[in-house]
Amino acid sequence: MPCLFCKIVAKELSSTIVYEDDKFLAIKDIFPKAPLHLLLIPKKHIISVNYLEPADKDLVGDLILLAKLIAKEQGTAESGYRLSFNIGKDSGQTIDHLHLHLMGKGQLPLS
Ligand code: 5GP
Ligand code: ZN
Repeated sequence: MPCLFCKIVAKELSSTIVYEDDKFLAIKDIFPKAPLHLLLIPKKHIISVNYLEPADKDLVGDLILLAKLIAKEQGTAESGYRLSFNIGKDSGQTIDHLHLHLMGKGQLPLS
């Protein structure tokens, strides 16, 4: 049974897509916690940072570089933004498919 983000990646569920290439999808978070709140999702199903393998090194590097590019495109590179991964229960991770939060365009609460 594919997970929610696998279904979004497969376009079986709708989302607001702001970027897509062969490896990643970036969508708007459905419950934004900042004026700009995007989720950068590798198309490959990986549960969390805890499940990354050495072979995923390029994927993770590309993910951070993509975040930088999207932050610039979205006009938040200069004013500031936050990138974050939730990992596991205590962090509040609710979707077990790796995703990088990109939040900006306003003062962000400390975390
Ligand atoms: P997590 O807490 O797992 O790091 O973050 C999951 C994020 O996914 C949350 O910020 C939540 O608002 C968002 N989310 C949950 N369901 C959906 C959905 O169906 N569509 C979109 N676009 N975002 C979702
Ligand atoms: Zn998945």
